[in-house]
Amino acid sequence: MLKRREFLQAGAALFCAAALPARATGATQAGAGHVVVIGGGVGGATAAKYLKLANPALRVTLIEANRTYIRPYGSSEVLTGHVGMDDLNVSYDALRSRYGIEFLFDRVVGFDPARRRVRTAGKRDIAYDKLIVSPGISLQYQAIPGYSEAAAASRAPSGWIPGPQTALLARQLQAMRPGGRFVIVAPPSPYRCPPGPYERAALVTEWLARHNPTAKVIIVDPKDSFVTDAGMQLGWHRLYGYNIPADYLKDMPADVVNSGRPAPIEWLRAKDGGTPRGIDSAALRVATDAGWIKADVLNVIPPMRAGKLAFDMGLTDAGGWCPVERRTFESTAHEHVFVIGDASIADAMPKSGFSANTQAKVTAQAVVNQLAGREPGEPIWENTCYALAGSDYGLFVADVFRLKDGKIAQISGQRYLPLDASKTRIRLAARYQQAWLKTFTEDCFA
Ligand SMILES: Cc1cc2nc3c(=O)[nH]c(=O)nc-3n(C[C@H](O)[C@H](O)[C@H](O)COP(=O)(O)OP(=O)(O)OC[C@H]3O[C@@H](n4cnc5c(N)ncnc54)[C@H](O)[C@@H]3O)c2cc1C
Repeated sequence: MLKRREFLQAGAALFCAAALPARATGATQAGAGHVVVIGGGVGGATAAKYLKLANPALRVTLIEANRTYIRPYGSSEVLTGHVGMDDLNVSYDALRSRYGIEFLFDRVVGFDPARRRVRTAGKRDIAYDKLIVSPGISLQYQAIPGYSEAAAASRAPSGWIPGPQTALLARQLQAMRPGGRFVIVAPPSPYRCPPGPYERAALVTEWLARHNPTAKVIIVDPKDSFVTDAGMQLGWHRLYGYNIPADYLKDMPADVVNSGRPAPIEWLRAKDGGTPRGIDSAALRVATDAGWIKADVLNVIPPMRAGKLAFDMGLTDAGGWCPVERRTFESTAHEHVFVIGDASIADAMPKSGFSANTQAKVTAQAVVNQLAGREPGEPIWENTCYALAGSDYGLFVADVFRLKDGKIAQISGQRYLPLDASKTRIRLAARYQQAWLKTFTEDCFA
């Protein structure tokens, strides 16, 4: 692994000292130029596609480390066998053949912002006029004492970036002893996919009810709330007999009454002692303020930061995320460089695929406008997070965002599926989630 200084030098050493033209690639025609996109995940793929849609004459190069994208959204369904690992694979073929995007499957390892160039592990030097970076997240395994990347790869997987750890976790769940405990360690905010850990807990609980009915799911959490928490707990209550804490119970529909009996799903919040203090991955247990929690399967979702590339490129702040000028998502660290998706600081917008997709569209248009000498325009972003409390029990939260006092703010207030929604609406929300997954993937990658 290159250190940041080495990373920058590795890039800079190769570049000649000649003065740069106004456009680094020498393009002179108004609106023309070369836009390089790094990261072919949700944000990067959408940006590349929408750049070409906005201006087909633009040269767009997408640099991505892997030939196939493994989508994180929907990846918890691998644990319960609803989908296989292969179903997470997304091809770049359609993007390549339909829009004339140039692809380079390589890892970016060097960056010279003064010369507007990036360098890859395969020793390609690429000049850009504008650079869009969507590197995703890095998992801070070491942020929880006793936990490590090695422990995640072997004993206590995370699977929050999908891949071998997801497959390992699925095997562990399916092999768990009768009556075993599946413990999920939820992350502190901000993190990728705010309802995600709780949806995962729900899907595992549903699967266990059929395959291991005396088993239990425990969520150990450093937080006291999460987006969609009321709706999710109502779903857990109706489907699995979860006992809703008193502070949520008062807002629930009148027919909701806790049985008081032990339920197969438990949420240990910070205020109940849930903050994880350490992991003993050999013994599969978590130290919390409420004592040790022993697991049979231990799924740790550690704290997160921007993807490593963002650190290497000097795009991050002290908090580990990338500050941007909110109107366009141009980095406040480097001119002509835009950071979108989970890695960016986007205020009220959650770190979701939906957000990354809508940020990509707004930024692509802003870049096209900049190259043509036009003003960026007034941005509007949106997000809908769908989540499942069970495979037939859906919920969602939807928002629209605009600039307010230089920050990104919700303009309409969050819209949830109401707690008194009918069974039909709840079932429909689960169908919408499935339909969204398909159309969303097409919007980003086809
Ligand atoms: C279990 C789970 C469920 C989720 N469910 C939902 C959901 O229902 N709805 C929703 O909206 N979101 C959901 N998400 C979140 C969503 O997947 C992410 O928010 C989204 O993928 C972020 O997009 P991104 O472009 O920022 O990063 P990513 O999609 O992670 O893409 C980053 C890309 O950058 C590439 N890259 C990194 N470094 C380099 C380098 N040096 N050189 C070249 N390439 C590089 C990587 O290979 C990767 O392809 C879920 C996530 C999880 C984990």
